[in-house]
Amino acid sequence: MGLKEALILRIAKRWIAGTRLEDAIKDAKKANSRGVGAVINYLGEDITEDSVAESHTNEYLRLQNEIHNQGIRGCVSLKLTQLGLILDREKARRRLEKIVENGAKLKQYVWIDMEGSKFTDVTLYLYLAVLESYGNTGVALQAYLRRTQDDMERIISKGGMVRLVKGAYRESSEIAFSKRTEIRKNYEKLMERLFSSGIYFAVATHDKHLIDRAIELSKEKKEGFEFELLKGIREELKDELVSSGYTVSEYLPYGENWYPYSKRRIYEHPSNIMLLIRSLI
Ligand SMILES: Cc1cc2nc3c(=O)[nH]c(=O)nc-3n(C[C@H](O)[C@H](O)[C@H](O)COP(=O)(O)OP(=O)(O)OC[C@H]3O[C@@H](n4cnc5c(N)ncnc54)[C@H](O)[C@@H]3O)c2cc1C
Repeated sequence: MGLKEALILRIAKRWIAGTRLEDAIKDAKKANSRGVGAVINYLGEDITEDSVAESHTNEYLRLQNEIHNQGIRGCVSLKLTQLGLILDREKARRRLEKIVENGAKLKQYVWIDMEGSKFTDVTLYLYLAVLESYGNTGVALQAYLRRTQDDMERIISKGGMVRLVKGAYRESSEIAFSKRTEIRKNYEKLMERLFSSGIYFAVATHDKHLIDRAIELSKEKKEGFEFELLKGIREELKDELVSSGYTVSEYLPYGENWYPYSKRRIYEHPSNIMLLIRSLI
């Protein structure tokens, strides 16, 4: 491990459950004991070897079974490029179906993370294809993309399930809003639409303004949606939301492939750059 990676790992530990499935299960139990559900992600993306995509698929099946066997309130969240999307779309689809089918059998949701914009079309295509046979699946939509309102309407019309996030990848201003104020404004507009949509959805943000707005919009009814937050960020808020009667889940990543995820977390928030600098002193 190089020096840069070693430094990032020191900070990243707060966002990651550990390297093994057992670590994730342990964290999921801790979350459950606070009244928080667990959305567990096995870290990995951009897989370019078929055998690795196959082993990631098997890890998710094992994870789903373990969630069930250990009586955990939780489910998995995966990336399609870890199921081999870059190599073979149809194979990735079959692997996704296998995981979603297992989830249906165990009465668990399966969330699909949204990756960089070159994968948006194919992710939605595969999501909607699988949704036709299985209702227990949802997909993340990114408020920074200008196209998201249309994508969301498509999913609403098919009775899908949406996790609304701001978006974590570098995108060009042609296709994405780049100012924080614009992204927040679009998020708010999309979230308002979700509240009137009738589909199940997740408000996945740590942004106080947006969470307050969600609370305002849910005055009448605290059901039909959940708050989802990342492990290691705004812990006190999770407890506050639970004690106010909201459904809250924590996104818990684990695995050896922690670097790309941790880099995104570090660069999206300036205070983490300061932590990184301080860890050098
Ligand atoms: C459950 C969940 C699932 C996600 N899934 C996806 C996905 O599939 N695809 C995708 O592109 N993105 C995903 N994201 C990431 C998302 O797109 C944002 O990059 C991330 O949530 C930060 O944006 P924010 O909405 O919290 O707002 P921000 O404006 O970035 O943050 C609001 C406040 O939250 C705190 N905060 C936020 N991030 C950090 C951090 N890294 N370190 C320390 N404090 C922080 C700070 O107090 C900050 O002021 C997901 C996020 C969540 C919560």
